[in-house]
Amino acid sequence: MRDNLRHFNLDPEEKYPSDGLRHVELNAERVLVLLPKSIVERTRDCIQLNCDGEEGIVVLVTAEAIELRLPTVEWTMGTYGPAASSRFWKRIQVSEITDQELGTLLKEALKERQGEFRSCRYCGKPYPPEHMHSKDLCQGCAEKYLGVIH
Ligand SMILES: [Zn+2]
Repeated sequence: MRDNLRHFNLDPEEKYPSDGLRHVELNAERVLVLLPKSIVERTRDCIQLNCDGEEGIVVLVTAEAIELRLPTVEWTMGTYGPAASSRFWKRIQVSEITDQELGTLLKEALKERQGEFRSCRYCGKPYPPEHMHSKDLCQGCAEKYLGVIH
């Protein structure tokens, strides 16, 4: 019983009761120990952990694999219709990685994401690439100062 102790709420809607923990839940706990502030979203076979919003990462957990994703915005109507989304970064087989290696990888993913932020030359604020008009100009300032329409 001790091994099946629940440390995190992995089933916020209480849709998937079980006596012990499924593999997907054990794997999600491995990640949550390292990223305890993540927001948990759940289907039966997949647990999505959203860590730190736009500045962080998205982790998709299944029984066999952990997929690390980085936030992005998709332009669902070609040049307009922005929708929050995520993009593939790395996927690892759960059986092939130690907790320590997993911790290193999660840190690398967070660092990768933080490294994508650039400061706007007008407002000085840091933005991720999906909110930049060009290398050093954010979309807001491009609209305000250059009359660009997004
Ligand atoms: Zn700006």
